[in-house]
Amino acid sequence: MICHVAYMIKLFVMKIRAIGLVSGGLDSMIATRLIISQGVDVFLIIFASPFFHADLMEKETIDFMGTEATVIAMGEEYLHIVKNPEYGYGSGMNPCIDCKIYMFRKAAKIMEEIKASFVFTGEVLNQRPFSQTRAFMKLTEKKSNLEGRILRPLSAKLLDPTIPEIEGLIDREKLFAISGRQRKQQLYLAEKMGLSGFSQPAGGCLLTDRIYAEKLKQLFLKWPYTTMEDAELIKRGRVFWHKDVLIVVGRNKNENELLANLAKTGDFVIYCESAPGPLCVIRGKIADSEVFDYAKNKVLFYARRPDAECRIVEAGKK
Ligand code: SF4
Repeated sequence: MICHVAYMIKLFVMKIRAIGLVSGGLDSMIATRLIISQGVDVFLIIFASPFFHADLMEKETIDFMGTEATVIAMGEEYLHIVKNPEYGYGSGMNPCIDCKIYMFRKAAKIMEEIKASFVFTGEVLNQRPFSQTRAFMKLTEKKSNLEGRILRPLSAKLLDPTIPEIEGLIDREKLFAISGRQRKQQLYLAEKMGLSGFSQPAGGCLLTDRIYAEKLKQLFLKWPYTTMEDAELIKRGRVFWHKDVLIVVGRNKNENELLANLAKTGDFVIYCESAPGPLCVIRGKIADSEVFDYAKNKVLFYARRPDAECRIVEAGKK
């Protein structure tokens, strides 16, 4: 009865606010719809970094969730976390527990600013062995000072009731008890909500990708002061090292264009003048011209034109 009264007050008098951390995946879309359907004013946060491009989430997807979203760029401080995670890595270079603590801390700040009552996510209990177990969920809550304030609508009935449920701001009965990696229930719910047919954001988290993780690991070893710009550069082609100089060779036209845009002052660019071929960016402290010969050979090899003419230019100069 008390809960029901609180629920009615919420609907008619107060405006309950919540912050949703979303990736654009189906789980976060369903979670958002579930919370909105309980009359809550939802403020969505999308985190963006070179490692995952939730910021490229289709506008259609955001519209379908029925609310506005704000993108928070994860800068150099996040890179520091990726380099030195307190709780280690998952299968690749993904520091999921530290990453979640980072995101929740950001959300806690915004929660205070906009006077929201809680944070919610699309996390599903036991969906990921490294970061979505009960113990790790509790740990991330504690470390971000959000104990009792993180609601996971898809698994709520399997978890301890959160403060918004206890206070009657959210009707626990309308939440779910989903656990594990199977997506059957989510697909059923998506169908019911008219969410089926929506494309998931491409790519997921690159830090879990074995090949990218290897490149990043090497980058951290070679350059302890790696920046986000470097992490972005190694995404865009084949990566080679000549001593401590980084050489990235594009694999297709799209990568060549991206590399050309990512080249910054101090970098060198090599491209084929007399034939189509890859573009190459050279970054680092160049001690001698050997590195240019090395990089040029890579370009000619992938151009499959050993006799092609190559040009070496300093980035930003013709
Ligand atoms: S998969 Fe990537 S984005 Fe997701 S929690 Fe782990 S590190 Fe963070």
